[in-house]
Amino acid sequence: MSEVRLRFAPSPTGFLHIGGARTALFNWLLARKEGGKFILRIEDTDVARSTQESVDAILEGMTWLGLDWDEGPFYQSDNFPLYREFVEKLLASGKAYKCYCTVEELEKKRELALAEGRKPKYDGTCRDLKEDRPGVPYVVRFRSPRDGETAFDDLIKGRISFRNEELDDLIIQRTDGTPTYNFTVVIDDATMGITTVIRGDDHINNTPRQIVMYQALGYPVPQFAHVPMILGADKTRLSKRHGATSVMAYRDMGFLPEAVVNYLVRLGWSHGDEEIFSREELIEKFTIEAVGRSAGVFNPDKLLWLNAHYIKAGDPARLAELLLPFLAERGVDPASGPDPVAVVRTLQERSRTMLEMADGAIFYYRPDFEYDGKSVAKFFTPAGRELLEELAAWLGTLTDTGHDSLAALFDGLCAGRGVKMKDVAQPARFALTGGAASPGIYEVIGVLGRDETVRRIRRALDACRS
Ligand code: GLU
Repeated sequence: MSEVRLRFAPSPTGFLHIGGARTALFNWLLARKEGGKFILRIEDTDVARSTQESVDAILEGMTWLGLDWDEGPFYQSDNFPLYREFVEKLLASGKAYKCYCTVEELEKKRELALAEGRKPKYDGTCRDLKEDRPGVPYVVRFRSPRDGETAFDDLIKGRISFRNEELDDLIIQRTDGTPTYNFTVVIDDATMGITTVIRGDDHINNTPRQIVMYQALGYPVPQFAHVPMILGADKTRLSKRHGATSVMAYRDMGFLPEAVVNYLVRLGWSHGDEEIFSREELIEKFTIEAVGRSAGVFNPDKLLWLNAHYIKAGDPARLAELLLPFLAERGVDPASGPDPVAVVRTLQERSRTMLEMADGAIFYYRPDFEYDGKSVAKFFTPAGRELLEELAAWLGTLTDTGHDSLAALFDGLCAGRGVKMKDVAQPARFALTGGAASPGIYEVIGVLGRDETVRRIRRALDACRS
């Protein structure tokens, strides 16, 4: 068996879209599984719409998701001489021809066809011209077969066939000498030795047009796998209306790349009823044949669920690194408070995103937050204040803030006063964090440390007095 060669071929006209990322991921997975090569090709022949910014955004998105490529990035804009060479070859062998029809003539023919209820396609006026017309502008058209059919066995959708009379004599080179999309894709895929083309099913109609070109050029036709679209909840194609569609927007909302990868692969591919897959398991278990034929519906709740899973299971030191930019966005300087790794450990269980974690971490770094009046009245009742006074006094004598000594201290205090744990814990939590929801009180005290804990309780008591 020869080596499997796959590619991702984005057009750099925007950010890396969730759907594009999933296509890239399927290609990458198959390459890794088969020990083949994954090639990145930037399809930037549309000079007017392609931007460097967009190339950077695609590379950034791929890198963030961990989709490393073995060859490339190749740029189609570097390949113009190659496309020229192939156009010349096709012209010389009569498999392409020069077409001198003007835009106006073509437009008239199109209107006529529409008026007569025919499908507009090139009528072949220049298909069999005997002579060149020196000096007259022309496009180059591919001489498409007119009889028979072109069929392929799609690895996802099964057999698909088109009648050749449906295929137009496509323009492969414009009047200005630039090549067109269906042609450049074929030249690149053929010369790069691509064995399997996995792409969105919006390209299905292009495939027979491309197959006849492989055949005309004498190159083997690759296998094709057309991946169904991703839909929004209302079953229309996923777009901005449904929320963020850029991969990097998910990073900025606090998602982990492994959660996005796991989510995207499951959106269209399944393996029994398993939901959670490590990268290694995906490489082991992925097959293109197990990608479903119908479109997947984007489900933000499931992505959140997966993200919460990966945050819970994540290495605290790595999560702390990821947390830093979110803290910075909130104007928090981590040097002004406890070690972020310790902070992460207290928040992993309760954060669905890194953004939620950052919000939950702020109190650790803001020793001077305000207590709001309504909550003061609720939590700092006279009884609550007395308990806090006593708690501060007891804590002041503590030599270690480990879970066991804190548990012994709180138990002793509750027993002595004849109150329940929550009677102490609620005002304490409010004094220490300024809110009613936080990690466990022992964990918070453990991270803040004895002195800062006592200071915050005293500050809270002062706040009640004033
Ligand atoms: N450049 C094309 C696109 O972004 C992809 C072409 C292909 O995968 O064959 O839609």
